[in-house]
Parts: sequence; C-alpha cells; structure tokens
Amino acid sequence: MVQKPSASRNIDHLAIASLLTVISLVTILVFAAYRNPATQALVGGAIVGIGSGGLILFRQLRKAARSLIASEATALYAATHDALTQLPNRAMFVEHLGSLPGADRQSASVILCICLDRFRDLGDSLCFVQCDEVVRQAAARIGSLCREDEILARLGDDLFAMRCEVADRAAAETLAGAILTVLAPPCGTSSGPVFVTASIGLSFNISQNRNALEILSEAQTSLSHAIGLGGNRFCFFEVGMDTASKARKSLEIELRRDVAAEALQMVYQPQINAKGIMTGVEALMRWTRPGQDQVSPSVFVPLAEHCGLSSALGLFALKQAFSDSRRWPELTVAVNVSALQIRDELVQTLKILLLQTGANPHQIEIEITEGVLLNEQPETKQTLDNIRKLGFTIALDDFGTGYSSLSYLRRFPIDKIKIDQSFVAQLGKQPESSAIIKAIIEMGAALDLKIIAEGVETAAQAQSLSMLGCSLYQGYLFSRPVEAGAVDGLILQPAKVAA
Ligand code: C2E
Ligand code: CA
Ligand code: CA
Repeated sequence: MVQKPSASRNIDHLAIASLLTVISLVTILVFAAYRNPATQALVGGAIVGIGSGGLILFRQLRKAARSLIASEATALYAATHDALTQLPNRAMFVEHLGSLPGADRQSASVILCICLDRFRDLGDSLCFVQCDEVVRQAAARIGSLCREDEILARLGDDLFAMRCEVADRAAAETLAGAILTVLAPPCGTSSGPVFVTASIGLSFNISQNRNALEILSEAQTSLSHAIGLGGNRFCFFEVGMDTASKARKSLEIELRRDVAAEALQMVYQPQINAKGIMTGVEALMRWTRPGQDQVSPSVFVPLAEHCGLSSALGLFALKQAFSDSRRWPELTVAVNVSALQIRDELVQTLKILLLQTGANPHQIEIEITEGVLLNEQPETKQTLDNIRKLGFTIALDDFGTGYSSLSYLRRFPIDKIKIDQSFVAQLGKQPESSAIIKAIIEMGAALDLKIIAEGVETAAQAQSLSMLGCSLYQGYLFSRPVEAGAVDGLILQPAKVAA
C-alpha cells in the first residue's frame, strides 16, 4: 500500500484540543468568579488573556496544518509518480491493480508490459538529457491511447505497464498495434531525430476473476518473449512461455560468460570475382554453447544487443578479424558492425585495434546496414567519414530490404553495396527480382560503387547475375563460411562462375 502521510490530521487534532482546553479554562474561571465576586475583575482579565492567547494558538496551528496538507500532497504525489514522465509509478500501479473489482465486471482488463527496445544501448550513444527527451515523448504517445479510467505507469527506465478495458482479444491486439504505430515516427531530440521501437507483452483476464498481479506477471513473461523475437512486436501470454523465458535467461547468462571469456569464433566466407578468383572474405561470428549445438548469429547478436553486450561482442569480432586479416594481405576482409556500434568511440576503438593487431585498414571493409543511416544524425556521417579517413572502406549490407534510398548513397560515404540474398534467391522465379537487381547495379555504376551479390547458391543464379552486370559474388555455390585456417586452401582453387 502507498503510505498516506497523516501529520496534518495530527496538527488539526492538536488545534481542536487546545481550543477545548481554552474553553475549559475559561469555564473554570467564570465559575470561580461567580463563587467569589471579589476576584471578578482579576478573573475577567485572565479570561480575556487566555481567550485571545488560545485564539492565536488555534489560528497558528490551523495555518501550520494547511501548509502541511499542501506538502503532504506533494510528498504523496512524489511517492506515487515518476518524476520524469509524471506517470504513476510501480507502487501506484500495483496498488491500482490490487484495488480492481473482481468477477462482476462486464469487459475484460488487459495488462500490457511495454519495453523500449535496446534502450541501454541507446543510453550509450545519447546523453542523459536526450534519453529523457525520448522517454518523455514515448510516454506521452503511449499515454494518448489510454482513457481516463485506465492507467499507464512507468515501472523502470525503459519499462511501462498499462491496464485497459477491452471487449476481447482482437481489441487488445488493436491496442498493442496502435502502440507500435504511435512510436514509429522519430522522437525529436536536441541531437536530431531518434527512432525507438518497443516490445509489448499482453495478458488478459478471460475468466474475469483472476488476480491482477498474476496477470501482470504473465504480461512480463510474454514481454520477454517479444524481446527474444527481436523486438518491435507484441506477444500474448501463452502457457509454456514461462519455460521459454527461463531458457532465454540461461542463454543470456551463458552468452555473457562466453563473451567475457572471448569463447566465440570467427569464420570467413569467400567473395569471388567474375574470373572466379577470391578477392575477399566476410567475417561471420559463431557461438557454440558448451556441450550443445551452434547458436545462430541471428539469435545471439540481437540477444547481445538487448542485454547490453553488443559493444563487447562487436569488439571481439573486430579484433579477431583484424588479426586474421594479416594472414591474407591480398584479400579484403569485411566485418559486420551493428547499428549500435556506430558512434564516436568506434573510431577510437578502430585506431587502437589497428595498433594492437598491426592490421592494414585499406584491407578492411566495415559492413553496416541501412538502419545505421536511418537516424540521419550528423554524428553518423561524421563517424563514417572518420572511419574512411583511417583507410577503411564501407559496405552497405542487405541492400534492397530496408529503405534503400538513393539519397543515403549520395549523402553517406559508401564504397560498396551488397545485394540482399532474398533477391538472388528469387532470380528466375520472380521477374521483379532481376529487374530490381538490374536497377541496383545501374544505380551503383552511376555512383561509382562496387556491387556484390550475396546468397549465390546455384550456377544459374551466378549466370543471371553475371549477365545483369554483377561482378562480385558470395554464397554457398563457392563456399560456406570456413575457419581461418581453411581460407588459404580456397584461395589456391579458383572457382567457376558462369558457364
Ligand atoms: P549477414 O551479414 O547478411 O551475413 C550473411 C549470412 O548469409 C550469413 O549467415 C551467411 O552464413 C549466410 N549465407 C552466406 N551465403 C549463403 C547462401 O548461399 N545461402 C544462404 N541461405 N545463406 C548464406 P550467418 O553467418 O548465420 O549470419 C547471420 C547474420 O548475423 C549476418 O547476416 C549478420 O547480420 C549477423 N552477424 C554475423 N556475424 C556478425 C558479426 O560479427 N557482427 C554483427 N554485428 N553481426 C553479425
Ligand atoms: Ca554482412
Ligand atoms: Ca547480408
């Protein structure tokens, strides 16, 4: 329960008690004067003195009580609200849930746990003030979907909870979708627009007589599930999710341990030119849980980002790829860098790693995705410019899947485009994919960019790509990613690209 201060009530009681004491004293004196007329003048003076003293005391006490009431209200507000967003806090939310009526209600209560995605990492790239601006704006947008009899609370830095009345599951789904939609436009901050997404877990009281705190805990479990699926989505609670969420937690603990111990590996996938000669490799990370199967990087890279491990993981990949690059001075070594790593410190980190490993920056290509360019912050361009000044080149990965804007290619210092494998996979199946690939190749040529197609699995795909004017390829047709020690053998065996 939220404690309600009661000092003002005590002062009120004190004022009334002092008034009663004065009345009693005056009564005693009146009685004494009545019994002894000789003391009447003296008693009269005493009554006037005590009466006015009592009145002053009564007024002072009432004044003190009024100012205390005001400060008590402020203290109560502070104890039950979040100072940044002015939303109810965790204590008030829990109290609110506890006070909900039970089984007799007509509509169902849905509880949503809403977490801003990768907020910890955002906190690394923005200052406190900018983070606060983002939280305030996100809170206001989510709050705009909340009716007066419903409640939105801030439970933690990046965590909100909401209770709403909905007719059924479809209405709850619409509400969760609306939250993702209102959060989609960028938040304006003093350092430019910042994009935030959210993960949402929902649970609702179908049977209408369940404990609200139980429903809250289910919503939290489904939130973990939504986060585990990569964020920017909502998930309803389902039986069995508890187990999945525990499994995810233990995956997170193991990943944390193995990243600290640098117990991951890098593998390298060849990149081939039109003559079948290997010109480069892409460094790809691998993680094998002790005694278990390999975990896909598309699972553990987002997990690392969510639990604040992206810097450590990225540093490991860069360091390993830099040192391995010295084995193959004739090859370009491409390293994936996540959007969260692109910030000022990256330039400094790259400088230190060059010194530590003795790698040649002209041999190393930094692969970024369009997500990096989306925020359009001046710092992003500055960081990319500085990376290039050090001698590195920059490749834009998964091109065609995101916003693929021509203006990005003109504005940002990009050297190479990687045509996403989804277009390559559709070659010969969907006529649009060859038209898209052709357009990308022509655009790249006009901007003097190198073009590489990834995910090349068949000779027919390589043939089509070659005819469309693509002259660099990567894919299982040539080689799967291999350990560093196996790259030398592949360099010596030129591949056959097209018939
Ligand atoms: P990506 O950067 O697009 O990497 C290409 C993915 O395609 C790799 O998957 C690669 O093994 C796979 N691939 C290559 N050729 C073929 C093919 O012919 N057919 C098919 N179906 N797939 C092919 P992988 O290694 O599982 O990596 C998945 C994603 O994980 C990568 O996508 C990248 O986004 C991320 N990742 C991997 N290593 C790192 C890293 O060191 N740092 C960061 N930030 N992300 C990484
Ligand atoms: Ca890549
Ligand atoms: Ca890719």
